[in-house]
Amino acid sequence: MREFLCPSERGPRIFPEDATLNDNVMNAHPTPNYVGAIAPHGGLLINRLLRGEMAAATREMAQRLKPIVLSPMNVSDLELIAVGAYSPLTGFMGQADYRSVVYDMHLTNGLPWTIPITLAVDSDTAEAIAIGQSVALAEPDPHGDLHLMAVMEVSEKYTYDKTVEAEKVYRTTEEAHPGVARLYAQGDVLLAGDIWVFDLPLAAKTEFPELRHTPAQTRRMFAQSGWQTIVGFQTRNPVHRAHEYIQKVALEIVDGLFLHPLVGETKADDIPADVRIASYQAILRDYYPPDRVLLGVFPAAMRYAGPREAVFHAIARKNYGCTHFIVGRDHAGVGKYYGTYDAQLIFNEFDKELIGITPLMFEHAFYCRKCEAIVTAKTCPHDHSEWVSLSGTQVREMLSRGEMLPREFTRPEVSRVLIEGMKRRQNENHHE
Ligand SMILES: [Zn+2]
Repeated sequence: MREFLCPSERGPRIFPEDATLNDNVMNAHPTPNYVGAIAPHGGLLINRLLRGEMAAATREMAQRLKPIVLSPMNVSDLELIAVGAYSPLTGFMGQADYRSVVYDMHLTNGLPWTIPITLAVDSDTAEAIAIGQSVALAEPDPHGDLHLMAVMEVSEKYTYDKTVEAEKVYRTTEEAHPGVARLYAQGDVLLAGDIWVFDLPLAAKTEFPELRHTPAQTRRMFAQSGWQTIVGFQTRNPVHRAHEYIQKVALEIVDGLFLHPLVGETKADDIPADVRIASYQAILRDYYPPDRVLLGVFPAAMRYAGPREAVFHAIARKNYGCTHFIVGRDHAGVGKYYGTYDAQLIFNEFDKELIGITPLMFEHAFYCRKCEAIVTAKTCPHDHSEWVSLSGTQVREMLSRGEMLPREFTRPEVSRVLIEGMKRRQNENHHE
């Protein structure tokens, strides 16, 4: 018999040893509980996803608890905590970790961590919850009901200064910044506590389930492929020739590439995830060796926190088993809020050992007509006028007019998928 501290109103319960249960749910293993060349952040791959009898018992309990309806970003966070992508986090942050992350970019245990993972509620909701009380975490379902996913034992509730968080995490207090706007719009009180998930968000079953590999799964897949070194590539954009170049340059020095597009909440003007996924599949099919690349989706929401999010993205990919991580210029940036190299320079502020994953820094790449190749300012001596470059706005405008992007900029296979996707979207919006 093992004691499992289940968040129950009736205090801890004893669950029998259950062979179907992934036993690292106890999070108290002296021996490694992961496969792969690199340890998860903090040394243990967290698993807060209950199975079998424990899931059933917790689900039943949740029905009697006060439900808290999560924001789309928190729904993503819940899934990422559950599967260990946010290891060592086991729930939403308490005040000490929150302050330490906001001010010092580390958890109180000394590990680097740059983005607060918090659950904000309005004051009235917070008022009605007592410390030590268990609540159910829920999301709205398509029928207007609540889909219960997890139980959280509220260990703390605390107020926080949104302006300070904006200034520290986003480096701006302007509401025009999408991450800051979301922060200002959320509740004034943060609830903290460990979570036990008995059912993943609906998106886990409906949005790219075949590509939604968990860190435990990717680690196994990398090992099965015989990859010792793996480079992760975060993106929320289609893969243009420049990205293909950077990925392949990185792939020259490691064993495998993990193409890991973010599919959680993004800005309305970012290209929708389903169109992007189709474009990745098109380019992988024709231009990448299948035994060297794995495509997966990263369920996180975009914060647009630039440098801090670059570190956060790297740490999450370490949990997925990547040993290297590509950091481009203006990684996770938006507008003109961050300096060109800020997302690369921030890595110097951390102990390399504690970060664990190796960042690979890249310049902007583009096609040079004189070189007749994809180059960067580092490798090409020619005048800017020889470089083929298009702004994001130009790209969107061309695609929405049904025009192929220059083939030096984007593979025709990708252009076609993007044009089709845009057309479908426009028709859908038209019919709504
Ligand atoms: Zn050149």
